[in-house]
Amino acid sequence: MKNSERKIAVIAGAGPAGLTAAYELLKNTDIHPIVLEATDAIGGISQTVNYKGNRMDIGGHRFFSKSEEVMNWWQNIMPMADPDKTDRTMLTRNRVSRIFFLRKFFDYPISMKKETFLNMGFCNMMKAGFGYLWSCVHKLPETSLENFYINRFGRPLYEMFFEGYTEKVWGVHPSKLGADWGSQRVKGLSILSVLKDMFQKAFGTKKDNQHVETSLIEQFIYPKYGPGQLWETVASDVKQMGGEVLMQHEVIGVNIEEDKVVSVVAKTTTGEEVVFPCDYFFSTMPIKDLVPAIKGIDVPEQVREIATSLPYRDFITVGLCVKEMQIKNQTAIQTYKNRVPDTWIYIQERDVRIGRLQVFNNWSPYLVKDYENTMWIGLEYFCTEGDTFWNMSKEDFIQMAIDELVKIDIIRKEDVLDACHVKIKKAYPSYYGSYYQLDEVKTFLDTIPNLYCLGRNGQHRYNNMDHSMMTAIECVRNIKNGVASKENIWNVNTEKEYHETK
Ligand SMILES: Cc1cc2nc3c(=O)[nH]c(=O)nc-3n(C[C@H](O)[C@H](O)[C@H](O)COP(=O)(O)OP(=O)(O)OC[C@H]3O[C@@H](n4cnc5c(N)ncnc54)[C@H](O)[C@@H]3O)c2cc1C
Repeated sequence: MKNSERKIAVIAGAGPAGLTAAYELLKNTDIHPIVLEATDAIGGISQTVNYKGNRMDIGGHRFFSKSEEVMNWWQNIMPMADPDKTDRTMLTRNRVSRIFFLRKFFDYPISMKKETFLNMGFCNMMKAGFGYLWSCVHKLPETSLENFYINRFGRPLYEMFFEGYTEKVWGVHPSKLGADWGSQRVKGLSILSVLKDMFQKAFGTKKDNQHVETSLIEQFIYPKYGPGQLWETVASDVKQMGGEVLMQHEVIGVNIEEDKVVSVVAKTTTGEEVVFPCDYFFSTMPIKDLVPAIKGIDVPEQVREIATSLPYRDFITVGLCVKEMQIKNQTAIQTYKNRVPDTWIYIQERDVRIGRLQVFNNWSPYLVKDYENTMWIGLEYFCTEGDTFWNMSKEDFIQMAIDELVKIDIIRKEDVLDACHVKIKKAYPSYYGSYYQLDEVKTFLDTIPNLYCLGRNGQHRYNNMDHSMMTAIECVRNIKNGVASKENIWNVNTEKEYHETK
């Protein structure tokens, strides 16, 4: 088919969903994909930031999916191979993540062993035990995330391990968050699943990852140079197969004629506005930005209002290169120079604002420029665009982050060699406020037959990479098979069996 006869799909966003869509179109159809990416980075939230040769994975991305199709997809792009011989390879990694609380380490999820008693203290443990038993016989109505956790763990454990952390992440007390946030994030995780996991480990009857709650998954695959490497490889494959990936093209307009998208307008860094005629438009941009960009039809006022007030949580990571950490390995796991074995650590201390600490050396040694002599760590802070955290200068923020880690005895100030600071907007689509009226926006968007909402912010759903990709795979499948309904695309990650990661 001549190029001029080929149909065109414009795709907003070069994150996992947008790039998967482009790749799948090229593999399965004659449609020509044009990916428009607002920033200069490939991979969206799943990008890898390269700071002077140290690579930072924003959030720490485990490549794990219960979908065999997605697992195969990733390994088709980057097959398992010897990392000394090739860069295009996945590594198999072990998850080690613990909770840092009362200046001590606790298992994640909490386990009933001697160290837990010693660290928590006998009184706290008894309180937790009785609290859990009470929660088994006295169920609260599941009207909030607070009640969701109390019903599964009991009030004392909820207060120790969930209340403060959840408030750090969402900036909202768990009593004000919907219970469906919990079912999305830790579906299936309860004391019973934790105990079952413990006994299966103890008696060697544990099955493979496919049958375990995702919060408990212990092995995952990981690209040698971080998640961004995989998405950069996909972008390069897309270009090689004839697709286009245009950076610094921010979609600002979606033109509708006779109820169909006919073109998309993108703004470049010079302020130039470029019009891309198209037959299909795939949006992975936030619904909050998509709805006001729609031109040529009447958008009902109520729909506009719901979309533009959708809530998000933003994210700041400070990358620190340190000579060494003060916390050392006290586990049975063998580590280089007796360094801590954790991939990430949940910081539950109430006197600091840091939420999580990534230890990039343990994600992949190839992320660290000088693996032998330095540790490359990521300090994660949750915030909201425009709040005091967000508006702090880079220098002040880095100083505050270093002071916090010194305060809780994780590093010494004199060991800090270098630091960087990365802000990520709309890292988490939130489940409160106008989110509960999202169906009205969905119904309106579905009246435009060639507009497809894909991915995490594209659907305002707490999707992992695999779910984000599956929305794209389903979408291309529908187009190929002439299926007009978008039900299956919206239904990805709504099934009860699926579980969130961290
Ligand atoms: C802290 C954290 C930890 C995570 N850990 C994991 C994990 O362990 N495993 C896992 O599978 N997933 C994890 N995720 C989820 C994963 O990051 C997302 O599911 C995935 O990146 C979503 O892909 P996406 O393409 O839908 O969106 P995004 O990654 O957000 O990409 C969207 C892209 O669209 C671009 N864009 C936005 N607006 C426009 C516009 N107007 N015009 C053009 N381009 C635009 C953005 O710049 C971006 O590049 C984690 C997320 C976070 C925040």
